[in-house]
Amino acid sequence: MGYKLKHIGRWSYFYVPEIEKKGLQHGFFTISSPDTTRLNDDGKEFLKTFFLKDFITLHQEHGDTIHIIRYGERPKKGDGLILTQKQIACIIKTADCLPVILYDPTESIASIIHAGWRGTAKKITEKAVHIMKDLECKTSNIEAILGPSVNSCCYNVGKEVYSIFMENGFSEHIFKKENDALFLSLREANKEILKKEGVFKIHDVQICTFCTDGLFYSYRRGDRNKRQINFISLL
Ligand SMILES: [Zn+2]
Repeated sequence: MGYKLKHIGRWSYFYVPEIEKKGLQHGFFTISSPDTTRLNDDGKEFLKTFFLKDFITLHQEHGDTIHIIRYGERPKKGDGLILTQKQIACIIKTADCLPVILYDPTESIASIIHAGWRGTAKKITEKAVHIMKDLECKTSNIEAILGPSVNSCCYNVGKEVYSIFMENGFSEHIFKKENDALFLSLREANKEILKKEGVFKIHDVQICTFCTDGLFYSYRRGDRNKRQINFISLL
């Protein structure tokens, strides 16, 4: 269940070798990697370096809209992408939010999801699993990767956030309580969703974006406009 840091060209990223071997190229780009959200010179170099024809990015809204990419669709807005086509990268941008990847090697279908607290509370990960099931994936074949995000060590949230999660049926275990302070674990919340759905193969890249300075952007640490690039593409 290990993850590793890899360098290709000017890109550095964390990935799970076991999942790549099964046919899903993917990565969580570190700060030192070029920005690949536009088809400028860096974007073109990204395509060349990773043997791609195109990439898709979304205007993300902290919602639960998910699009399926089957025939070269070009969605504009949303927070999740499900990929069945080869040579196309689906990108989700984060800065403390949790990037979730789902992959069914049998059906060769993958998803990438933007799961901040709002998306997690709306159960966007559950929605992605349901769409994959509609596309003939079996939950017992689906493997999940939880990428770098702000962890419960550094994610102090208010009582209103706690109430929303409780109203939406999450367990108290996703919060850590210290005196009067509440700390949310996006990882535990998404693991809870995945296990309820029958997805038990979960690879957890436990890096905290807030307290491991120098590796990833962190909104809460002050990176207002910079984003961590997370991508998937089918091999
Ligand atoms: Zn931390």
